[in-house]
Amino acid sequence: KMNTCNHLRHVESMATLPSGAGKISHLNSVILGEDLASEENDLVFPSNHFSSQALVSSPEKYLEMYKRSIEDPAGFWSDIASTFYWKHQWNQPVFSENLDVTKGTINIEWFKGGITNICYNALDRNIDAGNGSKIALYWEGNEPDVDASLSYSQLLDKVCQLANYLKDIDVKKGDAVIIYLPMLMELPIAMLACARIGAVHSVVFAGFSAESLSQRIVDCKPKAVITCNAVRRGPKVINLKEIVDAALVESTKNGVSVDVCLTYENQSAMKREATKWQEGRDVWWQDIIPTYPTTCEVEWVDAEDPLFLLYTSGSTGKPKGVLHTTGGYMVYTATTFKYAFDYKPSDIYWCTADCGWITGHSYVTYGPLLNGASVIIFEGAPNYPDSGRCWDIVDKYKVTIFYTAPTLVRSLMRDGDEYVTRCSRKSLRVLGSVGEPINPSAWRWFFNVVGDSRCPISDTWWQTETGGFMITPLPGAWPQKPGSATFPFFGVLPVIVDEKGTEIEGECSGYLCVKNSWPGAFRTLYGDHERYETTYFKPFPGYYFSGDGCSRDKDGYHWLTGRVDDVINVSGHRIGTAEVESALVSHPKCAEAAVVGVEHEGIYAFVTLVEGVPYSEELRKELIVAVRKQIGAFAAPDKIHWAPGLPKTRSGKIMRRILRKIASKQLDELGDTSTLADPSVVDQLIELSDC
Ligand code: ATP
Ligand code: MG
Repeated sequence: KMNTCNHLRHVESMATLPSGAGKISHLNSVILGEDLASEENDLVFPSNHFSSQALVSSPEKYLEMYKRSIEDPAGFWSDIASTFYWKHQWNQPVFSENLDVTKGTINIEWFKGGITNICYNALDRNIDAGNGSKIALYWEGNEPDVDASLSYSQLLDKVCQLANYLKDIDVKKGDAVIIYLPMLMELPIAMLACARIGAVHSVVFAGFSAESLSQRIVDCKPKAVITCNAVRRGPKVINLKEIVDAALVESTKNGVSVDVCLTYENQSAMKREATKWQEGRDVWWQDIIPTYPTTCEVEWVDAEDPLFLLYTSGSTGKPKGVLHTTGGYMVYTATTFKYAFDYKPSDIYWCTADCGWITGHSYVTYGPLLNGASVIIFEGAPNYPDSGRCWDIVDKYKVTIFYTAPTLVRSLMRDGDEYVTRCSRKSLRVLGSVGEPINPSAWRWFFNVVGDSRCPISDTWWQTETGGFMITPLPGAWPQKPGSATFPFFGVLPVIVDEKGTEIEGECSGYLCVKNSWPGAFRTLYGDHERYETTYFKPFPGYYFSGDGCSRDKDGYHWLTGRVDDVINVSGHRIGTAEVESALVSHPKCAEAAVVGVEHEGIYAFVTLVEGVPYSEELRKELIVAVRKQIGAFAAPDKIHWAPGLPKTRSGKIMRRILRKIASKQLDELGDTSTLADPSVVDQLIELSDC
């Protein structure tokens, strides 16, 4: 069996490399020179101190666990699953996997027949273990002096009250509930309350338009919508209830009417008197929820009963309704959280993602709470009142694990080091990144400036579809390479295939697929199993296809190169957008870059400059030289387009498909722009087209 497992061989050879295994524990943090041309060879070692306390302290330890997870997945995962509470054990086999559409429909199941509840496991189980008075949620409001917290017991009380209310309005097991809330504690409370009674939550990021919200309402036909009247984000007040009202009118027109709109009065943003109200449908949270009992019996569900429905970010097109089930997702998010962040009960954990994204599901709510962690929920914006807010929060709560996105790292980097260095940050021990490939220059800044060259960075590659981390460093186990997501998580067999779907070995580049099933995998696209199979399983029969490109270096490290749809083909060379962007961003005056391929025009780069730097012909030349030097002349952009802002999804990702249209002047084909954070950026870019 081992011989067929190419990946394992890479890992094994890495573990026996002289710079790998034995030596690590003798080395302190070393960061090799800033020689960007030899990026791949830079190794950043975890310190002795870190490795010696880590859950997985060496490549050998990782290898031992990884091997077992691949060779005996049933044994590996059932040992872990047994640490959770199950009302009844699952059936044998532990999982069923057929990832080959040519052999029949894809029907992934884990722990089928096991009866459990994820809310019980996150709250009651931790309370029973003596953690009732431990803080579960620290809430930091938009204004620096506004905060609150809930212990595990207090959180359970609140969850039960809401769960009882939902039952009272006839929300039953399997019913959908839409949650449209900002980062208040009521957001995870609402998710957990749904889970407690077996209802399926669908969180819609509270920045989406009425139209997007209504599309989702029509798609999943919720029994209720949970929202709040308004939110403050930085200096702005956003009237959320108005958006919900408009969405509900629109949904009714499309044949879906919602009976109940439970509305939390977010007093710091807007008083209830100023809120438009529809008697009979709208209910104030504060008037009704506290009247319900603080205990609520658990609805025991099958491991394969749906837990939630979540639409993908929409970076590549129309959002997909990803469905996750209970048992496998529970085991997987908890385990990935624990190992990828080297979690210890004393940690204070902060993930900057909104619960409206998968990261907020798996790594704000479920993963950390299942581990009994103390989690920070931040309502505000990272640059309010100024660009040092994140580090103020880190110091205020003594955050030990800080998990964020490259887009935020780059923007804080652009604002200057002073905001960071004015804070101590000495509590930090692990950093994390998710959402896009992190450019090596941003990685270094994050590592050197934010983490004082002390904290390993978990660059976690995963997707809404995968439920949890797939390729990620385990801090303490491996030397890192800035910009590489390193090695697969336990139980995951990533492979790189060529256009024909043949696995390629050794140093290579191609399409990133997964060869086996893992517990956190999504089970379908809601209401469209055919699209599920077509999108993910038909391109390369026998594999789950991620849609991302990836290369593997001589040491077996994985480097994500962006979405394969974005790969640029110039006279036979396949160039990943991420590579060119990294080269551009490594120029000290370039803050952000997005690269697309255009017919006839070749490589077309949109660049945002560091605050205050004017665009000049000289700078244009310097940027091109940077790419030539780091990658090669063939990758040099043919056109540089100055971009004061880039079109991004509301989760902060660059939407290259729109940039491709702008670059090729197909302005009437911009497509669905409803998931853009700031649609005005598009007009601005069109205006600057000929500069
Ligand atoms: P849509 O599927 O609707 O186009 P999306 O893919 O942006 O949206 P998500 O599921 O939130 O929605 O994001 C997953 C994608 O984000 C991955 O497929 C990958 O392209 C990118 N990504 C996430 N984490 C990383 C990472 N650590 N390194 C590189 N890329 C990453
Ligand atoms: Mg995607």
